Amino acid sequence: MTEHIVILGGGTGGTVLANDLADRLEPELDAGNVRVTLVNDGPDHVYKPVWLYVPFGQREPDDGRRPLAELVDDDVDLWIDRVTDIDTDDQRLRFRDRARSVEYDHLVLATGSTLAPEQIPGLPEGGHDYYSESGSIALRENLLEFTDGHLVLSVIGSPHMCPAAPLEFVFMADDWFRERGLRDDIEITYTYPIQRVHGNPHIAEWARPLMDDRDISVETFFNADEIGPEAQTITSMEGTELDYDLLVTIPPHAGVDLIEEAGLGDDGWVDVDKRTLEADAADNVYALGDTADTGVPNAGSVAHYQAGVVGQRLASEIRGRPATASYDGKTLCFIETGMDAASFVEFDYENPPSPAPPSEKLHWSKLAYNESYWLTARGLL
Ligand SMILES: Cc1cc2nc3c(=O)[nH]c(=O)nc-3n(C[C@H](O)[C@H](O)[C@H](O)COP(=O)(O)OP(=O)(O)OC[C@H]3O[C@@H](n4cnc5c(N)ncnc54)[C@H](O)[C@@H]3O)c2cc1C
Repeated sequence: MTEHIVILGGGTGGTVLANDLADRLEPELDAGNVRVTLVNDGPDHVYKPVWLYVPFGQREPDDGRRPLAELVDDDVDLWIDRVTDIDTDDQRLRFRDRARSVEYDHLVLATGSTLAPEQIPGLPEGGHDYYSESGSIALRENLLEFTDGHLVLSVIGSPHMCPAAPLEFVFMADDWFRERGLRDDIEITYTYPIQRVHGNPHIAEWARPLMDDRDISVETFFNADEIGPEAQTITSMEGTELDYDLLVTIPPHAGVDLIEEAGLGDDGWVDVDKRTLEADAADNVYALGDTADTGVPNAGSVAHYQAGVVGQRLASEIRGRPATASYDGKTLCFIETGMDAASFVEFDYENPPSPAPPSEKLHWSKLAYNESYWLTARGLL
């Protein structure tokens, strides 16, 4: 009997896993004992970290896109289609285009995050973002024309992708405006929903003095409730109102609807064991990357490490051995602290982050990592 592994989502986690399995299970794939199918709802693999650089004119959105067919091993069946229903009792998937449902023996959910700006009245009309390809392009136009006034960066809701990216944006904007001789005419305010500037207390403690040094104003306990696009105001549930001339937000995030519809977790995030990455509510289902609710940041590095763990576990299961690989919470992140300096953090469930002193070398390391990402996606790094 051929065992069918289906990976749902061809982003960072799903693509790394597909290539990992092609390598790890090569004998079984060659013998026809296993089939690996990767399903993605578009033909391209999208590398989202590129979007941070688009508003500053440093990268083009196309730099973050490559055809999945070029990245995925030939031994993997690549289906460009959208899964519309997961039946975990019958172990079946239904599709937008494919007429027949398909059975799986093992399912891996790697469906990522989606943006939900409509949750905040006025946000779709009033706010800009760099958390989508179209948003980053529109923001580039607005940022170029912005020569004086109040720029507000508001982090709305959590979890969101790359918890460091809001800090990176204000640090880069501060530097970018300084380089262009505009900073004295531009006020920058950063708002965050809880009592500090980042979810992780160690990163928050490191970042806050840098923000003070750069004259970046901070509003904590600011949970955006409503945007007034005409009046150019953003109001928080706590009752604070800020006037803005340019509003950049990290919009509310959610997972994909079909997760909740399948009873696997709330808001599209899959309830999992944070070490085995097995879904709580169904057998033979794993989740990894953003959609796996492990409490670690929604980051590509996390998806990458988790893919290695799920790959090892699946290979053990296919070979009838106990699955022992476990995810230790490993997270790695470069944090831009300007246009030509960055810090670096590495942490896990047991060891908290300790940000490295910002340096030009770390900035170039981040850019080099972004370039080498395409080898990571192929499973070569
Ligand atoms: C501006 C920005 C900067 C970032 N910077 C960094 C960084 O520096 N370092 C870092 O580690 N991370 C960074 N991230 C976060 C990183 O991009 C994400 O955490 C990562 O992409 C998550 O990988 P994933 O595989 O879980 O999901 P994704 O990469 O989002 O992939 C999910 C895939 O599933 C597909 N899909 C969803 N539903 C379906 C369905 N029903 N049927 C078929 N296909 C479906 C989607 O189309 C998508 O291709 C950044 C993110 C942003 C937005």
